[in-house]
Amino acid sequence: MILSLRSLRKSYDDSVALDDLSLEVREGEIFGLLGPNGAGKTTTLRIVAGLVYPDSGSVEIDSIDALQNQDDARRVTAYVPDEPTVYPKLTGREFLRFTGRLRRIDPEELERRIEFHERLFDMKGWLDTRAESYSHGMVQRVVLSSAFIAVPRLYAIDEPLVGLDPATAETFYRMARSAVDNGAAMVLSTHTLPVAHRFCDRLGIIHEGRLRRVMLTSDVPREDLQDIFFDITGTEPAVVKNYFRDVFQKTQKTP
Ligand code: ATP
Repeated sequence: MILSLRSLRKSYDDSVALDDLSLEVREGEIFGLLGPNGAGKTTTLRIVAGLVYPDSGSVEIDSIDALQNQDDARRVTAYVPDEPTVYPKLTGREFLRFTGRLRRIDPEELERRIEFHERLFDMKGWLDTRAESYSHGMVQRVVLSSAFIAVPRLYAIDEPLVGLDPATAETFYRMARSAVDNGAAMVLSTHTLPVAHRFCDRLGIIHEGRLRRVMLTSDVPREDLQDIFFDITGTEPAVVKNYFRDVFQKTQKTP
């Protein structure tokens, strides 16, 4: 098992973000966390990354007690937040060199990995431009490259596909699959149910800080996932069919 979360609880003032959440992700697996806004996905991933400390519970990463040995756990984990940033005055290449050196990757090997990712994510030209001019998708390419360059045991990625065009999303997926096929594990969050179904080996639905259901993706027909999600979370979309018709009718009546 690469990631074991046991009975995590986390509150912010009066609100409970996580309530007895347990989850395991094994080598070779991409695990998708699904849930409505505010369900607790980001809090879970931030705890895995060592950025938030739970009130109680345990976190084990690659057999390391991550709450007791945060530095060791961070060394084997790559975390990509849902709003990633690259220092605006650095170029993408400088950022990748900086994060790679923090990981103590051999300099020649680091340059090889950066060149590979430059081609992989089609960043030619951009990597030598300051990040202040990057689009959201270009920032995402750079931070995902930084995660893959680190070759961690565990990837914790919050909303990996936001801002990525379809070809880059597919490249991300292939890299993720290759990483887990070669000894890693990945836990990611997403709001896009078809994407979750395509990318993930198992899916977990979080609602109000609790993991309500864990499923093997292969057991769930793609077209059923949305109904299962709404059943569990009670968050069906509101009906708005007649809203604008009513607004226009009222507006026309106004003198
Ligand atoms: P989204 O899909 O909207 O990103 P999420 O599933 O990632 O949501 P979290 O960001 O983990 O949800 O939030 C879980 C709960 O914890 C929410 O009620 C949120 O308001 C609360 N919360 C998260 N971070 C903080 C914080 N720093 N201070 C106070 N409350 C917080």
